[in-house]
Amino acid sequence: MQSDKTNQETDLQKLSLKLAEQNEFLSYLAKCINFENSFDEEEAINSFLRSFGEEYNTQELLLRKLEHVPTLKRACGRTINKGETLFMCFDCDLVAPQEINGHYALQCKECFMSSNHEGHRITSRISGNNEGTCDCGDPNYWDSKGFCPSHPGITNEFINQTYQKIPELIRKRYVDSLKEIFYFSFDFLQDNPKHGELIDTAIALITRFHHLNDCFKLLTAEVLISKLPESYGLRVNLQNLTNFELTNEVKPCDCTFLELLIRFDFMFPEAVQNSIRSVLIELIVFPDFKDVHFRLYTRLLHFFYYMGTYPDFPTLCLSKTSFFVFQFFSTEKDLLTAVSYAESINFLEVVHLVLKNYFNVSKERFYSISFNGL
Ligand SMILES: [Zn+2]
Ligand SMILES: [Zn+2]
Ligand SMILES: [Zn+2]
Repeated sequence: MQSDKTNQETDLQKLSLKLAEQNEFLSYLAKCINFENSFDEEEAINSFLRSFGEEYNTQELLLRKLEHVPTLKRACGRTINKGETLFMCFDCDLVAPQEINGHYALQCKECFMSSNHEGHRITSRISGNNEGTCDCGDPNYWDSKGFCPSHPGITNEFINQTYQKIPELIRKRYVDSLKEIFYFSFDFLQDNPKHGELIDTAIALITRFHHLNDCFKLLTAEVLISKLPESYGLRVNLQNLTNFELTNEVKPCDCTFLELLIRFDFMFPEAVQNSIRSVLIELIVFPDFKDVHFRLYTRLLHFFYYMGTYPDFPTLCLSKTSFFVFQFFSTEKDLLTAVSYAESINFLEVVHLVLKNYFNVSKERFYSISFNGL
């Protein structure tokens, strides 16, 4: 036991030395890992910002430089409480026609009153418990012709315009630092899978920046869908789609940061897994990100459902509840696309299992979808 503990400490010290040579935030993280100080979110953010240079090195300065960047909040998402009136439109609802477990889309009163449903088949009723949130502005659930003027939805054109308005230096520093933080975390975790909590600080930092100004969501998405720079080598075997496997030598890693996040997911404590999913859910509104995530999720489906078999891993951290199943496979079109990617072993079996467990989709319907897809 004693020697185990000593080994772990040496590993942490080695990591700490490696991190200390990188940017300010990573050196701060190094001190926390080495127990020289305890983690303080405010101090972590400030150390991260110091690497942005003098012009931006406090939160106030940073926010002032981003004042002209428009908000990305272009959907309503308001929770409809018990007793409030909710509105449905059979012509704008994109969920109900899929007939999955009785799901449907809706609008809150304010959005419904200011949107145009002329000639549409509409209805309303008093909401019960947990009826959901207003779908106005979300092109996955509600037809854009029925959006209200306050929630025009996110288009690629709007994303590009917003992205152009982020000062180049802020963009570069945030993106580069995040890549470094992720890389050094994965590099350490591949040999120390029991230190999954390490990623927690990175996720906390990301969440905090998303709250400071939502344009950082665009930058986080940019990092996640970009490939690792060639100089970043890892031992993860990317050919293995069913198990987490390491090769003997370090090789340049030809995959996205998002793929690594999925592959390392089973190491993270459940609370961190959930925070990661919340971050990813926020980013799915960006079409490019959704496309990359959808393909990856489909290809690596096995990891989400079977990773519990990793040898000698002490606890089964894998969260079995995944909202992405609904996000990605709720429409027949999406499911057909997923089947056409079928790179994952036993893909149909996994999808079937997922659908059966979470949405009670009948076997007949599932087979008709998958055979059509094949
Ligand atoms: Zn609304
Ligand atoms: Zn609205
Ligand atoms: Zn309508």
